[in-house]
Amino acid sequence: MTSHAASDHPDIEKVLISEEEIRDRLSVLGKQISQAYEGEQVVVTAVLKGAFIVLADFARSLEVDTIFDFMAVSSYGASTKSSGVVRILKDLDVEIEGRHVLIVEDIVDSGLTLSYLLKNLRARGPKSVEVMALLVKPDAAKVDIGVKWTGFEVPNEFVVGYGLDYDERYRNLPYIGTLKPEVYS
Ligand code: 5GP
Ligand code: MG
Ligand code: MG
Repeated sequence: MTSHAASDHPDIEKVLISEEEIRDRLSVLGKQISQAYEGEQVVVTAVLKGAFIVLADFARSLEVDTIFDFMAVSSYGASTKSSGVVRILKDLDVEIEGRHVLIVEDIVDSGLTLSYLLKNLRARGPKSVEVMALLVKPDAAKVDIGVKWTGFEVPNEFVVGYGLDYDERYRNLPYIGTLKPEVYS
């Protein structure tokens, strides 16, 4: 059965990045990142929950020796504004001392979450720590984080889909889109 129901989701105002665009971009990034770590092992660390779909799709284009691990940090909750408070809800299972670490993020907005994570992980003595983020927002440029690999730049709007939620919903949408204003109220 052919269904176009997803892109017709009644709560979605606008699709910003289509499923096809995301797929193509992730495969390009997968190739670039595989080249960057050629001959090395890398601990690919996804930040839950938002990055779970990016990770799953992107992982299949990686052609290097990889170990996958997960971290969970506190996020916006049901709000659309960053609280500035970062809490580790789930830490890595593996030791990263002397290893290459690649953090996979869904989106970098204020950069607060990522700065905290980078500081925390660097203190463990890894060989390197780099970041791949599917999306970056304009404010991310203000903080000196250095996201090495970026999927797309998005405007300063709250987006959902492809792993990104609003109040834990909409993560399953296969594209990145904005919500209708009435959904927030
Ligand atoms: P930051 O600390 O960079 O401001 O934001 C980090 C986290 O906030 C992201 O990993 C994501 O969970 C959440 N976030 C930031 N912007 C958005 C957005 O536009 N949509 C959604 N769904 N989450 C966002
Ligand atoms: Mg995230
Ligand atoms: Mg969230």
